[in-house]
Amino acid sequence: MLVLVSSDRFADHLPPPGHPERVARAHVMQAVSDHWASRGVPVLAPRPATAAELLRVHTPAYLDRIAATAGRAVKLDADTFTSRDTAEVAALAAGASIVGVDAVLDRAGTTLPDAGHPDVSFALVLVRPPGHHAEAARAMGFCIYNNVAVAAAHALARGCARVAIVDYDVHHGNGTERIFYTDRRVLFISTHQFPFYPGTGAAEETGAAGGEGFTVNVPIEAGATDGDYLLVFDRVILPVLRAFQPDLLLVSAGFDAHMRDPLAGMRMSVAGFNDLGRRLYALASVARCPAVFITEGGYHLKVLGACLDGLVGVLLDRRDKATTSSAVAKAVPARVSGKGPDAEPLTPDDLPLSEEVVAGPSRRGAAAVQLVRAVQQRYWPGL
Ligand SMILES: [Zn+2]
Repeated sequence: MLVLVSSDRFADHLPPPGHPERVARAHVMQAVSDHWASRGVPVLAPRPATAAELLRVHTPAYLDRIAATAGRAVKLDADTFTSRDTAEVAALAAGASIVGVDAVLDRAGTTLPDAGHPDVSFALVLVRPPGHHAEAARAMGFCIYNNVAVAAAHALARGCARVAIVDYDVHHGNGTERIFYTDRRVLFISTHQFPFYPGTGAAEETGAAGGEGFTVNVPIEAGATDGDYLLVFDRVILPVLRAFQPDLLLVSAGFDAHMRDPLAGMRMSVAGFNDLGRRLYALASVARCPAVFITEGGYHLKVLGACLDGLVGVLLDRRDKATTSSAVAKAVPARVSGKGPDAEPLTPDDLPLSEEVVAGPSRRGAAAVQLVRAVQQRYWPGL
């Protein structure tokens, strides 16, 4: 059972013109949501996170700072900006992540047809702005509130004993790592291009105090392929997840490791992202662990649409993904390059999405596995 959480309000956060984390990303997410809603996938509306929910991971002074931007365009850091409605939209993104957690933990307040069904369930939360760079007291890297951290803290508050976060965005989730660095109840696993923005995420960062061993960083050299990512998942990430036995799996789902992404230097394909989703889906299904996927980065619009569409297909356990993908691919450019108020100038995003799939592993995956094993084997003996 899969639910989506989405809202057209996510188009109301307006970074300056030319910013990669742009409004059109919300239109892509909405197109994916509309497409699957028309095929019977339930879509839940988000609600704003409350102050109490945000304060589980952010400081009171930081909440005041964001609230003070209401109605205004403010530069929060080198590449993070607010607009009139950003404070509200960011709270809605964090709240959407909570709605996703609640949906899979007990489905309270929903009218899902199989409410009460014991099967494992999945949620895909389609939000912007992203969250994983945001720290307790700092906006950073396009992120205002740390959506996945708010979701994890909510799950802990609801009684979960062990929450795992897998972050496959191409950037290191520095904010998420830092928020739970000393907390053994939250396992944070991140794959990321390294060295790269934001500079953190070395393999030797393994957690501290009571949380030592519960941060697993998998830094990967630029140029990694689908095969490299799958190797890392099969040799490191999935074994650690199985050993941890989470009550809830959260995924920071960023798609900027794709070969066409304008911000990074990895060489993944849409098929490769589908495979990562399939690995996590299978693990969660076997372990009967509910899972919530929350969007992070991904700045090539057609890639973002195709990856999200593929992920929905995977989480529905659909094999007929080819037909659905093409439907969304058609919907995406029409909304971002054509006529009407949403129109943007033609960009490389509007070119056909033809991929050269580099399926096999290069040396980068094996090197990452070797490095992480050397650091993490003392905490995870099965590696
Ligand atoms: Zn990213």
